Amino acid sequence: MKNNKMGNKFAAKERIIAWPRMGRIDIPLKALVLALGAKVVIPPANSNEALEIGVRNSIEGICLPYKLNLANYIMALEKGANTLMMFQAPGSCRLGNYTKMAQKTLNQMGYNFDMVIFDMYKSKMLQTLQAFWHVTHCINPWCYYRGFSLGFNKLFAIDTAEKLLFYTRPRELNKGEAEKCYNKWLEIVDNTNSIRGAKRLKKQIIADFKTIPIDKNKKVPKVYLIGEFFVLLDPYTNQNIEKELGEMGVEVQRQIMFSDWLEHVLKPSLFYHKESHRERSVRYAKEYMKRAIGGECIETIGDTVYAAKHGIDGIIHISPFSCMPEIVAQNILPKVSKNENIPVLSLVLDEQTGKAGYITRIEAFIDLIKRRQMDYLN
Ligand code: SF4
Repeated sequence: MKNNKMGNKFAAKERIIAWPRMGRIDIPLKALVLALGAKVVIPPANSNEALEIGVRNSIEGICLPYKLNLANYIMALEKGANTLMMFQAPGSCRLGNYTKMAQKTLNQMGYNFDMVIFDMYKSKMLQTLQAFWHVTHCINPWCYYRGFSLGFNKLFAIDTAEKLLFYTRPRELNKGEAEKCYNKWLEIVDNTNSIRGAKRLKKQIIADFKTIPIDKNKKVPKVYLIGEFFVLLDPYTNQNIEKELGEMGVEVQRQIMFSDWLEHVLKPSLFYHKESHRERSVRYAKEYMKRAIGGECIETIGDTVYAAKHGIDGIIHISPFSCMPEIVAQNILPKVSKNENIPVLSLVLDEQTGKAGYITRIEAFIDLIKRRQMDYLN
């Protein structure tokens, strides 16, 4: 919405909320925000058009996620959004500066909007509830209960479907069946509006994937997909690497799953009893890094060590060009790979990345892993 007669504040009933695209977070977040009585605008999925808008309105050296996030905001504001949710985090990651930078750019472009910031490493449930109250002005506890129940159950269902897709795709007998099943369930999850229905989704998804015929005896290499949060979750940016690997006959295990991460970030520690991904990473990375430096640097190192100790065949590390935490990780990874005896491929992505060269490097890496497996067997 460009500058017009509206003030900077919007009445609760006029709230039209948008947030950046990241994986399928739009499905659970939409359910939550609608339950709190606000309207939602979902920007189109990332594409060449979005990238072009982001690049045109950003400084050159800024990392790719910022450019796409900015494009998401612009596209959402053009579709009538008036309230933007922003996420920020500390450390050498530049996400901490995104909020002010994006806000200034959008104001200079003439857009009029409210902005609500979620500081992901300070936010616990109470702060998150406050932020949602600020966005929606909803004071009905039932709506919060309904919204969070729907949101979390949908999130768990989507992550379950993704994990099953990663497992089934390289083993399926009829090409494309796992993907069809996954897409079908995404639609069902999105259209489920009752808490009872949402709670049943996970079991139904597991049962449905079990009906897909697979070759259980097929020797399938297992690869951890690790690196920067945004590129791991955005199929446009990572050029659909999970699908490419699955079709090459590789089982992908992505180490960042939204439900794990959000549960850890939001749940009060009193109710969070397992070891979080971050805690596991700190434990496994301690020989190489003393502390987290922002972004997913420590997860990248910790996941690599963990993978080597748990029979994983290789690591594909992806990061956006100029991402500071992942540059640090990339410089430590050769030592980790050598010491822990696990092959690592690092891929840096930016708006110039060509598909052919990217796929060729992945194929060569998978050949190497398969050869290593054969050597072990002989
Ligand atoms: S982790 Fe890297 S790419 Fe992601 S926001 Fe931070 S600096 Fe940018």
